[in-house]
Amino acid sequence: MSAISKLRSANSRIPLKFKVWLYFITFTIMVFVLLWVFQIFFLENFYENMKTRAAASSADKISSCYDRLAAGEMTRSEFQSKVETIAHDNDLCVEILDRYERSIYSVETLGDCLIHGRVNKTSIYIFSILESEDRTIRYTMKNPRSGYNMLLYGRTLGNKNNPSGYLLINSVLVPVGSTVYIIKRQLMLITVLLIIFAFVISLFLSRRIARPIAEITKSAEQLAKGDFSTEFDGRGYLEAKKLADTLTYAETELSRVDNMQRDLIANVSHDLRTPLTMLKAYAEMIRDLSGDNPKKRNEHLEIIINETDRLSLMVNDILDLSKLESGKQKLNPSEFEISGKLSEIIDRFKGISEKMGYTINFTPDSERTVCCDVVKIEQVIYNLINNAINYTGEDKQVFVRQINTPEGVLIEVEDTGDGIEEDKIKLIFDKYYRSENHKREVVGTGLGLSIVKAVLKLHNYDYGVRSTLGKGSTFWFRISDVK
Ligand code: ADP
Repeated sequence: MSAISKLRSANSRIPLKFKVWLYFITFTIMVFVLLWVFQIFFLENFYENMKTRAAASSADKISSCYDRLAAGEMTRSEFQSKVETIAHDNDLCVEILDRYERSIYSVETLGDCLIHGRVNKTSIYIFSILESEDRTIRYTMKNPRSGYNMLLYGRTLGNKNNPSGYLLINSVLVPVGSTVYIIKRQLMLITVLLIIFAFVISLFLSRRIARPIAEITKSAEQLAKGDFSTEFDGRGYLEAKKLADTLTYAETELSRVDNMQRDLIANVSHDLRTPLTMLKAYAEMIRDLSGDNPKKRNEHLEIIINETDRLSLMVNDILDLSKLESGKQKLNPSEFEISGKLSEIIDRFKGISEKMGYTINFTPDSERTVCCDVVKIEQVIYNLINNAINYTGEDKQVFVRQINTPEGVLIEVEDTGDGIEEDKIKLIFDKYYRSENHKREVVGTGLGLSIVKAVLKLHNYDYGVRSTLGKGSTFWFRISDVK
């Protein structure tokens, strides 16, 4: 067994309940890990980045005001008030120097700035600005007096290569340590509470999801033992309900097939026993009584032959169907003329129809050459006519029609019998189904129509039955392979 399949088989031994619970808990833990990482470990970096970006954006604004001042689009006082607003809004300390590094304007909002009035310091910064590649500096440094970290942002004004001035911005980086501490405490509490909550909810949820499946499995085991009255309870959610419904459907079908199979055995053994008893009785009669009387003997022998025919018919039906259903049967198509074939089959019934008074009325259409498995289609027609004779009414009339249609040759076999009830129609083509009220002279195992269905399905031909209670039934099928 490969490692993957080993893992899979180990995986399939884990109960759903546990899996759902595990997924839920894993998800919760992941959410918290992410939250902790972002809140605690990245908070400081995040804050500093944000501050630097805010300083850069203020610097951009001041720089563009400076350009407008230089271009004469803005008065000096307008410029000053603009810079003041920016500085106050963002808690910044701003120092603007001219190209000779003389302070020309400054705003102090912090009270403890690193740049104001420190001429040698500013020149060091300006030197760094000019040294840097993009003419911009960003430093964080500790204010020696307050002990706070400060952000220093500096850049050139005007042309980068030939600056007309310099801008230095200073802002305080408020220590986030205490904030982090508060958040940590709070998060700890939330984490503990929510993990307990998630644990309880997931436990409850996983049970709810797994319960219907466990119940259905228990019922299915019951069904497997052959209890067809098992009820499947799929309450809980849609999928479980669907599963339960499907199993209920499978159960009714299984129970039906089971009953039919039992009926078949009963029918077959009953139908086999009768001719066998007769065979034995007549054979004994010939041995003991009629052996010397040629007339009587022949009569009895005739009965023996008829009963043997009846037996082989039944056995053949069973064999045919099992062959058809095994899927091994292949079609053996050949071309033949359908009207001719129908007359030929009807002629085969001549003996019985004359003897018993049945009339088979044949209405042919113009001759058509069809291409299909002649032996099997013959059997379909034979079975349908045989059924029509068996089930037709007192008038003993059977109608066989050939109707040529654009889709193929339609063949109908009609009788004048009792008809078939609506709910029975879908059952009659099933294996082993026979109505309870069949007569002894009706030879059959309940397999005739199943053979019809199997053959027509193999050919992919449409078929069906129309029936009116008390008036009769019309069985039809359409041969669509017409030359
Ligand atoms: P069998 O005739 O051997 O019982 P079939 O498979 O041929 O088996 O038919 C199944 C059932 O369908 C029959 O038992 C009968 O109830 C019904 N049936 C078939 N043909 C007709 C018909 N022409 N008229 C009424 N009922 C029919």
